[in-house]
Amino acid sequence: MHPARLWKALSGGKVQCRLCSHFCRIEKGARGKCGVRVNEGGALFTLAYDRVAAVNIDPVEKKPLYHFLPGSRTFSFATMGCNLSCSFCQNYDLSQPPRLGRDPSGQRATPEGLVAAAQENGCASISYTYSEPTVFFELMQDTARLAVSKGLKNIMVSNGFQSPECLNELGPLIHAANIDLKGFKSEFYVNICGARLDPVKKNLVRIRELGWWLEVTTLLIPGLNDDPAELRELAAFLFSELGANTPWHISRFHPDADMRDRGPTPLSSLETAWTIGKEAGLHYVYVGNVPGDERNSTFCPECGKTVIGRSGFAVLAKNLKNGKCAACGRSVAGVFE
Ligand code: SF4
Repeated sequence: MHPARLWKALSGGKVQCRLCSHFCRIEKGARGKCGVRVNEGGALFTLAYDRVAAVNIDPVEKKPLYHFLPGSRTFSFATMGCNLSCSFCQNYDLSQPPRLGRDPSGQRATPEGLVAAAQENGCASISYTYSEPTVFFELMQDTARLAVSKGLKNIMVSNGFQSPECLNELGPLIHAANIDLKGFKSEFYVNICGARLDPVKKNLVRIRELGWWLEVTTLLIPGLNDDPAELRELAAFLFSELGANTPWHISRFHPDADMRDRGPTPLSSLETAWTIGKEAGLHYVYVGNVPGDERNSTFCPECGKTVIGRSGFAVLAKNLKNGKCAACGRSVAGVFE
């Protein structure tokens, strides 16, 4: 166990966790909703600080981040645990066991060891990803601090359900984020994800203010969040609150975890969503999880030429000069150096 940060003592030995927007009130001996944070004797501890359950060196495109150091490698890791309970989770074995009462398991790790491994493997960044990095905040914060001191960038891939305090603490440490906007109906967040939509919307706007490079992902699930009217509202929010230069990744659902009662997202739904994103004024809309789809590449918003060609997560060609389209000179949004 490691002392947790961002909590306050309440009366009677209870504590309130201030890490995510659940703001759990936790009795002595009990854990919060995520199952990762425990009240021991009136103080809050994390069970995930030194237990890394997944480590990989990924292309940054896999996060997905398409406009942040494209073609670079990112040292990616996770502990177990998540503060949401999405029934369609595609990383169920990593995210959900602590919620079901199991202690987070994994290899022993330290911030020093993780940063050294990132450097040894020629990575430009470290990604806090796979499960939900909010619930391993202490490890992320210590690793990110050290990474910055060594000249590495930090990437957070998250459901965006942090508390305002948590985002403020991470503000100076994180350089880029991919945040899920899982749908645009409150009932969807409450009934399918065990969370709420409003904090995620507020956090997206806050992340924009913090100046991180931001991309947004929506997993399109047949019959649940693929209604064109809902998608139009979502895309209008991205455009008006986050800006036309915010990349939107529309990702194909495959049956998984507790959601096997429907097939993969039809290609026609992905096409409809893509068109809605473009009609809303977004410059960079991507279709993910569909091998060979040309909408996985980046096109210049001015002349339409391919500026970053991709096949899956591989960058095939970059037609950029100093962050501008090599054909017409129009600036392409992102962090390229
Ligand atoms: S991180 Fe969120 S879910 Fe976990 S204990 Fe804290 S408030 Fe509760």
